Amino acid sequence: MREKIVEAAKAIGRDPHSVALVAVSKNHSIDAVRQALSAGQRIFGENRVQEAASKFPQLRAEFPDLVLHLIGPLQTNKVKDAVALFDVIETVDRPKLAEKLAEEMQRSGRHPQCYIQVNIGNESQKAGVAPENLSALLTLSRDDYGLPIVGLMCIPPAGQDPTPYFNEMAALAKAHHLPILSQGMSGDYPAAIAAGATHVRVGTAIFGER
Ligand SMILES: *Cc1c(COP(=O)(O)O)cnc(C)c1O
Repeated sequence: MREKIVEAAKAIGRDPHSVALVAVSKNHSIDAVRQALSAGQRIFGENRVQEAASKFPQLRAEFPDLVLHLIGPLQTNKVKDAVALFDVIETVDRPKLAEKLAEEMQRSGRHPQCYIQVNIGNESQKAGVAPENLSALLTLSRDDYGLPIVGLMCIPPAGQDPTPYFNEMAALAKAHHLPILSQGMSGDYPAAIAAGATHVRVGTAIFGER
């Protein structure tokens, strides 16, 4: 997968080091994660707080440079556990969550980086802030609450060409001076990289079917 990412970056003239691989280990065992760690992978993504809490504390003790991203929806009653466990929270998508995250960071002294999840296809069933509400949420969470918001994240609509959505995300990140752009999964990471992704989140193509 790393070789493929390097190829995809080179193909469009990007520095391969500018694209980070988040290995999505949800529904896969600690042993599977361990194998990836042995191969040198250090950044992992999980979509559930509880599952991550059952797998990663022991691995972290062995691999202090492990970096853990939360890529799934976060309920406010799990904020405390999420702030304690994750290094990056990719799914800030509403004012109440931003408020609770800020309170918990203040209380605990831990400050995981945050990305705002954008519902770039305006899909009713999908998490994420609507594109037209991004500016307001960013102002509230970064400037009013002081959250360390450094990027944007999206999952484009299934069954469509993702490139226009990826391009729109890149334009939003640029317009808001956010350096990080998390987009692209097993099925569409080359298009995401072509559109400027700094982080691709790949599960199935590394670990197999869930
Ligand atoms: C599961 C998941 C991924 C990885 O998807 P694959 O198709 O298995 O690569 C990426 N992002 C999010 C938010 C996910 O939930």
